Amino acid sequence: MNKKLDVYLAGPRGFCAGVERAILMVQEAIKKYGAPVYVRHEIVHNKYVVDNLKEEGAVFIEELSEIDQLDRPVIFSAHGVPKSVPEEAANMNLLYYDATCPLVSKIHREVENFERKNLPVILIGHRNHPEVIGTMGQTSKDIYLVEKKEDVKELPFEKNQQIAYVTQTTLSVDDTKDIIDEIKLHFKNVVEPKKKDICYATTNRQEAVKDIAAFSDFFFVIGSKNSSNSLRLVEVAKNYGSSNAILIDDIDTFDPMVLINASKIGITASASSPEVLVSKLLQKIGEKFDLNIIESEYEKENTHFKIPQKLKEAI
Ligand code: SF4
Repeated sequence: MNKKLDVYLAGPRGFCAGVERAILMVQEAIKKYGAPVYVRHEIVHNKYVVDNLKEEGAVFIEELSEIDQLDRPVIFSAHGVPKSVPEEAANMNLLYYDATCPLVSKIHREVENFERKNLPVILIGHRNHPEVIGTMGQTSKDIYLVEKKEDVKELPFEKNQQIAYVTQTTLSVDDTKDIIDEIKLHFKNVVEPKKKDICYATTNRQEAVKDIAAFSDFFFVIGSKNSSNSLRLVEVAKNYGSSNAILIDDIDTFDPMVLINASKIGITASASSPEVLVSKLLQKIGEKFDLNIIESEYEKENTHFKIPQKLKEAI
């Protein structure tokens, strides 16, 4: 008989509404136009998703200049793009569809709004992340990137000057709160976004991890190394008590025998990781242990985003 193992599954976990919509857009475009359909940047940061879409007929590129069949459609990823990208696509006469998550587009509109009001904008986020590049590219004016608390004192503003901030959608809720507190400590006239920029999916997945991490001998986050929301989930699990919090990018290389001395483990999947990977991991662990699976539910989600009208009309 195998050793018994309690497995706590964080809820909610896995695909968010923006990721579901972006993947569906690529699949619908392939159905309508046939292969290849170009996708600018990984549609979402998940290797399994990207590999499957490649098999269906998607061709992933980083820049529009890599497109060699100009009569094929191109889709922009869920992370959002600078304004220069649709402009370039129009100049190249490309048929393009924009899979930017509506919650990222909301931040783009905030930046435009602050620009109209002539307010300098701080962006809290990670340098070089495609979402940050896209948000910075919504204005021709400078945006001031803050990655950590210590960056705040380097900002070139007067104490009483009116300034505004926005954030990336997939940051750590706790770290971002600390950075915002620091900004408000340094500057007296801070204009905040109308609604929080860290999205519901990021917030819920992090909160769900906190509930379980404290008592888990191991905590596994299924997600890719280049996925911001996956990396944040690992940090949250560590910060909330699970010293063995590990990102699993490739389940095939995972050895369940690392759990030989464990009695309770936690598992989640990032917003860009499909549920099938959770099943695959459970199956692999279940070959060596008798699993007692406990579904935990921090929050029930019921958010769905429609695909853009332009693509709906085309299909
Ligand atoms: S993580 Fe949030 S912002 Fe990013 S695609 Fe999902 S819902 Fe949209």
